This record gives sequence, structure tokens and C-alpha cells, in this order.
Amino acid sequence: MPWPTDRDTELFDVIDREVERQNTGIQLIASENFTSPAVMEATGSVLTNKYSEGYPGKRYYGGNEFVDEAEDLARTRVCALFGADHANVQPHSGANANLGVFLALLEQGDKVMGLSLDHGGHLTHGSPVNISGRFYDFISYQVTERDERIDMDQVRDLAREHRPKMIIAGATAYPRTIDPAPFREICDEVGAYFLFDAAHIAGLIAGGAHPNPVPYADVVTFTTHKTLRGPRGGCILSKAEHAAAIDKAIFPGLQGGPLEHAVAGKAVAFREASQPEFKAYAAQIVANARALAAALGEQGFRLVSGGTDNHLLLIDLQGFDAELTGKDAQIALDLAGITLNKNTVPNDPRSPFVTSGLRIGTPSVTTQGMQEPEMAQIAEFITRVLRNPSDEASLAAVRSDVATLCSKFTPYPG
Ligand SMILES: *Cc1c(COP(=O)(O)O)cnc(C)c1O
Repeated sequence: MPWPTDRDTELFDVIDREVERQNTGIQLIASENFTSPAVMEATGSVLTNKYSEGYPGKRYYGGNEFVDEAEDLARTRVCALFGADHANVQPHSGANANLGVFLALLEQGDKVMGLSLDHGGHLTHGSPVNISGRFYDFISYQVTERDERIDMDQVRDLAREHRPKMIIAGATAYPRTIDPAPFREICDEVGAYFLFDAAHIAGLIAGGAHPNPVPYADVVTFTTHKTLRGPRGGCILSKAEHAAAIDKAIFPGLQGGPLEHAVAGKAVAFREASQPEFKAYAAQIVANARALAAALGEQGFRLVSGGTDNHLLLIDLQGFDAELTGKDAQIALDLAGITLNKNTVPNDPRSPFVTSGLRIGTPSVTTQGMQEPEMAQIAEFITRVLRNPSDEASLAAVRSDVATLCSKFTPYPG
């Protein structure tokens, strides 16, 4: 029975329009990137056809000799990249990676500490609407009022008071370096497991721009599609002593058959991230974020924590325009071809659906080849939009300048 021969123009036209959107707008969502054609080739390969429940050498079905090789390449490469004992490359996403670790190391109701969601933490670090917050007893730590950096004194005090089974470091909207060493010390003092969720910064770690948590943490989870620039997916690195429990938790504990086409894409991305050019890429992501932060600071925006050490910045709109919400700012910028997301700032008076801030990331524009001069231009575009967010002529003028800039840095030409 052959496949249909007529082209599904209804769907493929939608994809064509998405290519056009990615090529002609400025993508500043901190958790996104442009993955390579090689990663997409692997992800779009016949490996999508194969069932391979289990792990290399221990599969439930036959015919896995080549899938085993692909998954072994991914595991070996990622262990070498981060200096890890063991890797599980099967999590379908970052959320699944975290859930797999909880299933491996915790019992329902155990106490866990994580960064509060409204101070930059992730949903999977104990939000009441997420399974993490429903099945485990999360205690949140925060950033300080004084410098808006993680309050390590509070982490220590809460750990001594609650004696959690696990402490999670890692964030989704935090612009500063997270030092794994003091977390390890606190975990040792109270007898907690240390999970470092490197979802956002895995590429910065691989490229040597941020400290590697692998020597310190019992387990490190990350996504492969953010700064690491691979396919959409998750990964777990662990000490050898946790390897069996984690593998068992991911399969059969949590997932069914792995997405081996995505695993192959991860293998490609791990190789790309081990090349010398990736070090330069990681350094440029940070240099671009700093340049963008400095330029926006000059235009009168307040930066949460005063700046950035990584791939993202958070701007607090309250001092710039007390009436302007993150929600309205995001909508106006989108109309001008600048895509980013509204975000709460620490102690935000507005709800997470409205917010008083914006999160801005540089992984995508850095992949396109943009550098400091382009960051100054982008800061100028953002300022023009946000000074007159409901002026249609001004938005159209910025839209045209955005298209001109992007035409010199097209991620997917042809
Ligand atoms: C993005 C992110 C995740 C979840 O990744 P998904 O692939 O979206 O499930 C988990 N933790 C942190 C800190 C993140 O930023």
C-alpha cells in the first residue's frame, strides 16, 4: 500500500510560513535556538520507524543493531563532553528528565528544595500545578532583595530546618552564574542529593563559559534544544552509583519506546558542541547578552540583578513606564518582528499572565552570527517599540528595520 503522492500543501505551507518567520524576525526567546541542518537530518531520519524499548544491548525487540550504535554514540559523546560517569539520553524533554530523577531517587511526599518559580525557577521545581509540586513536598528558596542573586544563606537555613532529601539548583529565568560548589557543601551537611538542572545553560557549560556542575552534583539534567543547540529533548548525567536507578526510572518507569531519531540528533549535537568553534559560540552568547544588557541599561531599562553573566537578561519595565506590562510589551514587540517573552521579575506586583518584565536571550541571534554592533541595534529597536507601543506607524517602521537586519543573518537560506 503506497503512501499518498499528493503533497499536503495545507500543512507544508504552514511550515514554509514558519521558516519565513524564523528567517525574517529577531528571535530572542532565551530557551530557543536554531539547530543545524545535520541535527535536523538525523531527526528527520528513518530512525523514527524503530521501536527500541530498553537500552543498547538490552532491547525488547530485534533489529536494533544500528539504533544501539546511534544511542551509544550519543551516550559516549555526552559523557566525554561533560566528564560524566553515566548518561541517559532517552528523556523526551527536560521535564521528563527531571521527573525521571525524582522517580529514581525520591519517594512520594519527600521534601525537596528548589528556586521559587517567581524568582526564576522552573515549573518542575515544585509548582503546585506541576506533578513535582503535587507528589513531593517542595520548599522554595529565593533571590535576595539586595542583589537579586540566589540567597545562599537562605538555602543553608532552609536546608538545616527542613532536612530535604534533595536540593535542586538551576533556573529558567536567572541571569547570573550558579556556582555548584556551595550547593554541594549544603547537601553534604544535611545529607541531601544534589540535582543540578542545567536545562538553559548546558551549552554554556559545554562551551566552557560556565562552571561544570558534573563533578559536584549527584545528577545533572538538561535539555538538548536550548543553548546546546540540538534537537528538542532531555538528557540525564549521573554518578555511576545512580545509573541503574535512573535508567530504570526513565524506562520502564516513566516512558515507553525512546525517540531514537531524536537520540541520533542529540548524538550529532554533542559532537558539534565538542568542537573548538562551540567554545567561541558560547563565549559570544554571553558577550552578546552583556552588550544587549548594557545598551538597554543606557536607554533607561532596569536590569534584574544589574546585568547578566549568561545568555539571558531580565528587564524590569516598572521604572521605564509604570503603565507598561510585560504582556503588552511582548505583543507590541511581536508586531515589530521581535519575539521574546513576558516574565515576572522578583516580587512582581502583577500576575504571571501579565507581569512587569521581559526575558531576553541571545542564543539564536548568536547562532545567526550577530555580534555586539547588532546587539546595539536590537536594543534601539526594542526601545523604539516600547516608547510608543501602540503607535502602528512606529511598529511598522521597526518591522522594516528588523527585516533589513535579518536579511544579513538569515539562519535558513533557501
Ligand atoms: C526548559 C526547562 C525545563 C523543561 O524542559 P522541557 O523540554 O520544556 O520539558 C526544565 N528545567 C528548566 C530549568 C528549564 O529551563
